[in-house]
Amino acid sequence: MTSELQIGSHVNYESKTGLLGCVETTLQNRANALMFYTGAPQNTRRSQINLENVVQAKKKLEQHQIPFSNVIVHAPYIINLANRKEEEKWQFSIRFLEEEINRVSTFGFSYLVLHPGSHVQEGVSKGISNIIAALNEVLENTKEKKVKILLETMAGKGTEIGKTIEELKQIYEGVKRKERIGICLDTCHLNDAGYDMTSFDTFLDFFETYFPLSLIGCIHLNDSKNERGSHKDRHENIGFGTLGFDTLLKIAYNKRLEQVPKILETPYINRLYSPYQKEIAMLHEKKFCPTLFEEEKKKQK
Ligand code: FE
Ligand code: FE
Ligand code: ZN
Repeated sequence: MTSELQIGSHVNYESKTGLLGCVETTLQNRANALMFYTGAPQNTRRSQINLENVVQAKKKLEQHQIPFSNVIVHAPYIINLANRKEEEKWQFSIRFLEEEINRVSTFGFSYLVLHPGSHVQEGVSKGISNIIAALNEVLENTKEKKVKILLETMAGKGTEIGKTIEELKQIYEGVKRKERIGICLDTCHLNDAGYDMTSFDTFLDFFETYFPLSLIGCIHLNDSKNERGSHKDRHENIGFGTLGFDTLLKIAYNKRLEQVPKILETPYINRLYSPYQKEIAMLHEKKFCPTLFEEEKKKQK
């Protein structure tokens, strides 16, 4: 156990460089955690996993004392377990999630972040029962795997389910294999859903009335472009949004979640330049730099 900040970011998984490429980007950013999609987040095209590449990547993680629990996989957004209006699409989501769990298991990692889904026109309670039915099938069909699904807290954009801790709790209550379920807190989503992040300990006390903190497998550390309760889901760079640097810094260093990996999903500067190395450095320095991205912003013009 270390008291070092557990911090990293989303990194791109390219079929050529695979997991090793993800780990190399992480090390360049001076991060000790990472999250990736096994392909494009918006589609289901997936390349064969190169096992030799995985061995090399994991050797690198070990050399740098990065625990495998700091490596998070995110399921693609096109998986929607909440809407069953079109049975075929729902079944497709189930099959794809099973394959995704198998991929995470092949990598040898433990956490797969999942958006619970959008009910579209079915209503919240039907949506929740659809999610429960789907998860029970997926977890039964992958029962020999050690992979946990981390249900992400959502902003409540459109008909998203998981915008309240109560909704996540209802899903959890319906799942049979509870040992395979965890939670991913997204600070932008929580803010946009209406939760006050400025006193994170107060939020954690509230959260604990539903779930033990040990179920939190990952935190998405993001600032937000919008006010609390906006239900927008637009991420902002650390310290440049409505949450602000001090609030996010306190979350990153909160003693109760010290060992939980914090993953940045903040936007690229001018859509071109990765902000992560600088944001991570700033979180280590514990001092907000309002001119952090001046250079990148100028480059465009
Ligand atoms: Fe997400
Ligand atoms: Fe997120
Ligand atoms: Zn988001």
